[in-house]
Amino acid sequence: MSKRAYNFNAGPAALPLEVLERAQAEFVDYQGTGMSIMEMSHRGAVYEGVHNEASSRLLNLLGNPEGYKVLFLQGGASTQFAMAPMNFLTEGKTAGYVKSGSWASKAIKEAKLIGNTFIAASSEENKYMSMPDVSNLVLPENTAYLHLTSNETIEGTQFHEFPDTGNIPLIADMSSDILCRPFDLTKFGLVYAGAQKNLGPSGVTVVLAREELLQNSPSHIPTVLRYDTHAENNSLYNTPPSFAIYMVNQVLKWIEEQGSLDGIEKKNREKANLLYNAIDESSGFFRGCVDATSRSTMNVTFRLGSEELEKQFIKESEKEGFVGLKGHRSVGGLRASIYNAVPYESIKALVDFMSQFQKSHG
Ligand code: PMP
Repeated sequence: MSKRAYNFNAGPAALPLEVLERAQAEFVDYQGTGMSIMEMSHRGAVYEGVHNEASSRLLNLLGNPEGYKVLFLQGGASTQFAMAPMNFLTEGKTAGYVKSGSWASKAIKEAKLIGNTFIAASSEENKYMSMPDVSNLVLPENTAYLHLTSNETIEGTQFHEFPDTGNIPLIADMSSDILCRPFDLTKFGLVYAGAQKNLGPSGVTVVLAREELLQNSPSHIPTVLRYDTHAENNSLYNTPPSFAIYMVNQVLKWIEEQGSLDGIEKKNREKANLLYNAIDESSGFFRGCVDATSRSTMNVTFRLGSEELEKQFIKESEKEGFVGLKGHRSVGGLRASIYNAVPYESIKALVDFMSQFQKSHG
């Protein structure tokens, strides 16, 4: 087999090698059907089996809370930025947003096109170096929902606790940290995530929703943009991204094999600690970008003393087989995305490389 890169891409991102190999083994002939899963009707029993398995595995990993449904949609998390307000931000209501960084800001921009919004908490003043304090939010009675971004992929911040919003539905964009740890789905009205970081390849967006919320979309919303359309049709209203959903099912199976979400969380903690410790113990040669209390276990952002040195770091790292360490173009610096499927060995190799780099440039 060819050598695998040390893949720190932000998304699409590393997938578990076992998953890729299993997919490869059944790529041409899925379980004796004489065709690839991609070549099958989405209305046939074989594909539907995979589709339903993915959905039940996901709910199972989250403890099978009552009254929740899984939807497999398209258009990325960016479409959810619009779909959530289209369906829930109705006349006379306002939507609360937690402004925590780049992705939250995009969600807010979209919601403003649909209706009234307010900023319930923000860390903009602090240049998004930490997650906003959401422990004592005051939400007006006509709040349709509160939206937050559980992990800011670009800045490298993550919520470690979620607010209790009582009767007001909590909506979360979990694109870059879904299933990195256990979470209590019953705290949320709706959770969405593009698959291409922790769940599988790009092309499918996973939505987890409290069923009772999905029934009151305004009548003028186009059919394909209504949650109820997809809920009533088991995400088979139109042709789903069947191969991507098949891959999600494989990734979910792999998560089960890692000891489910408790097992995954433990590994993620070890991986993140290894890297943050290397940064913190570099006597300031490497500097973490965000407040220690809000550090993400998924996207580790850090800087060097100068942009010159950062360029040099990227250049030398690429020569050694490291991919994706350049920070997002909007913020610069360096970023290692260490999602569920990034093996501990990749981070160990990165930490060793960082130490070598410091020796030769420090
Ligand atoms: N939200 C977050 C937190 C993200 O990281 C991303 C993608 N990087 C998006 C939304 C947008 O996702 P998509 O490209 O699937 O629309």
